[in-house]
Amino acid sequence: MTAVTVEAVEEVGTRTVALTLETPGGFDAEPGQFLLVRATIDGSEERRSSGNRSETGGVEETGYYTLSSPDTDGTMEITVEYVPEGTLAPWLAERTAGDEISIEGPFGDVRYTGEGDAVVLAEGPGIGPAVGIAERAREGGHDATVVFWGEDPPHRDRLDALEADGATVLVVESLDEAVDSLTGSDATVYVFGFESFVRDAKTVAEATGAADVRAESFGPR
Ligand SMILES: Cc1cc2nc3c(=O)[nH]c(=O)nc-3n(C[C@H](O)[C@H](O)[C@H](O)COP(=O)(O)OP(=O)(O)OC[C@H]3O[C@@H](n4cnc5c(N)ncnc54)[C@H](O)[C@@H]3O)c2cc1C
Repeated sequence: MTAVTVEAVEEVGTRTVALTLETPGGFDAEPGQFLLVRATIDGSEERRSSGNRSETGGVEETGYYTLSSPDTDGTMEITVEYVPEGTLAPWLAERTAGDEISIEGPFGDVRYTGEGDAVVLAEGPGIGPAVGIAERAREGGHDATVVFWGEDPPHRDRLDALEADGATVLVVESLDEAVDSLTGSDATVYVFGFESFVRDAKTVAEATGAADVRAESFGPR
């Protein structure tokens, strides 16, 4: 477990914040990989308590959060979507610059190492790794496509900058709208979101003949 300093917390969408974290010495990760965040949350906050009650009366909570920065040079970022009845995510959203949080990792085999064109299918907080991967791809001169399923994607500024830089950004009501972007492309397809989205997105991508589909599920909603 490593303590890292929160450098900034920015609201980037509806009930969604981006936390910029100081990258610890010797730490290296690629967009798409995730961190384990561990926090002892004050028991007086009266939140759900699935975690273990600590000796100080707080409740230890853990959660996984995926990198949403293109790299981890100096700082790195996670993007957190929270619901008010949640535990760890709203606590993370309340952090401020200078706070410390504990992390472990990185974890995960689904990662973009900067090689080749990338298409990313995302929902909810999956937009985090989608922008991180697309930015890294564009930095390397590769094609990047972000397909966000839903309305009003977080990280609108970064999506606009990506589009201005030549990336394709689609905000869709149905994944069928992404078929044209997938068909005939030899890009690696990445999928990030909750369980049912990941299942549907993999099915759509594989049906278009995509040869390499890499998905990370954020679990059930
Ligand atoms: C590999 C992996 C990567 C992940 N990466 C990210 C990431 O980058 N960003 C991110 O925000 N989350 C990510 N998650 C999910 C995250 O770890 C937590 O599950 C989530 O933040 C909920 O934490 P919580 O303790 O606040 O809510 P809980 O206390 O666990 O949930 C309370 C209730 O609210 C529901 N709920 C919680 N969050 C949401 C939501 N966003 N929408 C709808 N219902 C919800 C829960 O199902 C539950 O019923 C990832 C999960 C995995 C497994």
